[in-house]
Amino acid sequence: MRPRFIAAFAILLPLSAAPEIVCALGNGAAGYKPAEDQRPSPDAMQLAGRLNAAVKSICGQNCPTMALFRNATAPNAMLINDSGQAKIVYSPQFLSAAYDRFGDVGIVAIMAHVLGHALDGTLGASWIKNSWTAELRADAWAGCILAKTDTGAGGLEPALGALQSYPSPAHAGWNQRLPVVRAGYLGCAGEPAKFDKAARTPAVKN
Ligand SMILES: [Zn+2]
Repeated sequence: MRPRFIAAFAILLPLSAAPEIVCALGNGAAGYKPAEDQRPSPDAMQLAGRLNAAVKSICGQNCPTMALFRNATAPNAMLINDSGQAKIVYSPQFLSAAYDRFGDVGIVAIMAHVLGHALDGTLGASWIKNSWTAELRADAWAGCILAKTDTGAGGLEPALGALQSYPSPAHAGWNQRLPVVRAGYLGCAGEPAKFDKAARTPAVKN
């Protein structure tokens, strides 16, 4: 009867996996100190609520749940998978700089990209191409989320401007990303004319 004892050990060993950085926009992911995670600011919570409403209309009960944290040691924004629990961490310096350049819609677009990685791991969609990298798939989900977001009078320009301005080090160039964001936007019933108008007048400001 002895072998059963050994089998029990084999199951217990692999349980402690290190947290995995799924996406990091901007540089400095190596300097991130998880112990300095703090509650998000009320402004960030308000934008997350807007994003949440859009995401719920896409995945309903199947939406992944995740926590949101503010952390001054984080790169611009990141998605971390910690033993199956996902969290989004943003840098407050980054949030304020991006807000000044692109406003609410820019921040929503950045969070939509980060969240897009989590959706990519949970949902499938006919408009996702297998040849796309993980970063491009997250861009496509960001396009999908933007199609479900009220972007207001400023349209989609600030959303595209923010996505273009804050890539991850692993990202392809914007000329490859833009058609992918568009595919996700149209895949989730966004208006082609609205997207194409924004794509012609990029809102990149310095
Ligand atoms: Zn990403």
